[in-house]
Amino acid sequence: MTVPDITIAIDGYSSTGKSSFAKLIASTFGFLYLDSGAMYRGVTLFAMESGMICDGVIDEKALEASIGGLDLHFRRDDGATTLWLGDRCIESEIRTLEVSSFVSPVSAIPFVRAYVDDKLHSFSVGGRVVMDGRDIGTTVFPNAELKIFMVADDKVRAQRRFDEMVAKGQSPVFEDVLKNLRERDHIDSTRKTSPLRQAEDAFVLDNSSMTMDQEVAWIRGLIQGRFGILY
Ligand code: C5P
Repeated sequence: MTVPDITIAIDGYSSTGKSSFAKLIASTFGFLYLDSGAMYRGVTLFAMESGMICDGVIDEKALEASIGGLDLHFRRDDGATTLWLGDRCIESEIRTLEVSSFVSPVSAIPFVRAYVDDKLHSFSVGGRVVMDGRDIGTTVFPNAELKIFMVADDKVRAQRRFDEMVAKGQSPVFEDVLKNLRERDHIDSTRKTSPLRQAEDAFVLDNSSMTMDQEVAWIRGLIQGRFGILY
């Protein structure tokens, strides 16, 4: 039995483990995984490298003038998906704390959201997609057949992000990671355009003290209940 051709939308606060969970679902059910946060990070990296963010101020006019020509896309090699800016892989550059500190203000800009939404729709043609972000179930795919909203204690989340950065050879300070996460949660949930919020028909997953195996058991149960399919 296979899961039907549905779209699975996973939203939630920063570092709740959305992407690990989404990747696992994609590999378990043979779906395409798309990380919408990576796109916002890619736009932010581009703005930073092009000198459009000076002393913390974003030059919105310059960004608006060039965003249409921005060639951000995903590539899939051996099952791994990476983000590319033209012919350059930017997967590791977009994960630094510096990019994290500007990504929420950049992604609050309406024309940035319109650019990313367009790209996400064009990458998703054909369905069987699992996408994670902040507004997937509310704005990008409001008709997604399965919506999940992930939450977890913020210190647990900061520790996860901290460990991830250390594993990548970065040297973060725990308090900075926690502060950044709280700031992003605040900006993401209070912005005017597509704020982070739980869709009415989303199922909440609090994974503060869950293992990945428990999360997979949870989604299997959910799919069984929702579509009558047993895995
Ligand atoms: O998921 P990730 O933490 O990599 O996302 C980085 C940032 O991109 C978020 O903090 C948020 O500001 C923005 N984002 C968004 N809408 C999405 C996905 C991410 O505004 N759908």
